[in-house]
Amino acid sequence: MNALKAELIDLIREEGPLSISRYMALCLGHPRHGYYMMRDPFGAQGDFTTAPEISQMFGELIGLWAATIWRAMGEPDPIRLVELGPGRGTLMADALRAAKAVPGFRAALTVHLVEMSPVLRQAQARMLAGLAEPLWHDRIADALDGPAIVIANEFLDALPLDQFIRSQAGWQERLVGLDGGGELAFGLAPEAETSITIAAPEGTVLEQPLAALDLVAAVSRHLARAGGAALFIDYGSSRTGFGDTLQAVKRQRQADPLAEPGEADLTVHVDFERMAKAGLGAGAAAHGPVTQRDFLAAIGLAQRAQALSAKARPEQAAAISAAFDRLIEPGAIGMGELFKVLALSHPGLPALPGFDLHRLPQQQA
Ligand code: SAH
Repeated sequence: MNALKAELIDLIREEGPLSISRYMALCLGHPRHGYYMMRDPFGAQGDFTTAPEISQMFGELIGLWAATIWRAMGEPDPIRLVELGPGRGTLMADALRAAKAVPGFRAALTVHLVEMSPVLRQAQARMLAGLAEPLWHDRIADALDGPAIVIANEFLDALPLDQFIRSQAGWQERLVGLDGGGELAFGLAPEAETSITIAAPEGTVLEQPLAALDLVAAVSRHLARAGGAALFIDYGSSRTGFGDTLQAVKRQRQADPLAEPGEADLTVHVDFERMAKAGLGAGAAAHGPVTQRDFLAAIGLAQRAQALSAKARPEQAAAISAAFDRLIEPGAIGMGELFKVLALSHPGLPALPGFDLHRLPQQQA
């Protein structure tokens, strides 16, 4: 049995069943056995691949997006470029290379990374060597000071949430406890312990992403006060709905979330409607959510792919074209429609690049 599983079983024997958020937080962030704490999970050999790992174009376009925002803000100097959960640091490295095209922006910005994993902090330091001298923070609150542009790709999906199930008796919290054989198993808390009154058919699952909502609200409150914008990109839905979205992934395959705690990535889908409302409630303007496909199309992915292909060898051009498809196509081929993009900004900023498409009248293809 893996060490974290043994520890969780002991913990449940001592303290009783764990909320889903506590289980998720321990699986991902346990200091010794947490999924992200000891490993680099990205890439073809790893458990999953993310957009910045698919193509340099993704980070480059986000770097230019950030430079455009900086100009619209009146070119504040200094400005913090903050990334939440930077993984290997690939997005930030590509963004900074692209930002050199706007020399004033590159000179004005300082790089701040919010990262809990010591292993990934090292990977980020290597990736950014010679490009920036980043400062690392454990928590978002410490990373924000003054005008800021905040980037978060596949970060909100890693923040722990709680789940509730509508039973005959009412809403009951879903917990991780032990079955008769002493193995980890999902169960339900007594119904009297929740205050939820939403009407829904029996069996409905309701998720409460409090950590993500708190984070989005904190970022938005800061932006509304100090100026700037934040970009959240993740898989999830544009509209609030019901359903259990907790999933475990290991070596690019779905896994059982309870089978090997700490050895599979554990994530949830992001409810972008609720995130946008949290941002609005904290005083920011919300842009989107739009699909990743619409966002990347609007900020020039096709033009960037064309420019790169023009100077590429045939096999490189084929790789660029394949990356383009993975970033933008819908369905099983790509991330284009499952992934959504939400920006939150100081209300004084004009329309942000990437979000004007859905406000314009229908254009000819
Ligand atoms: N943005 C990267 C990595 C996404 S994976 C990419 O697109 O490739 C999630 C990242 O968030 C990892 O770097 C992980 O270590 C970090 N992370 C997850 N939960 C965190 C938390 N609560 N605090 C800080 N960092 C966290």
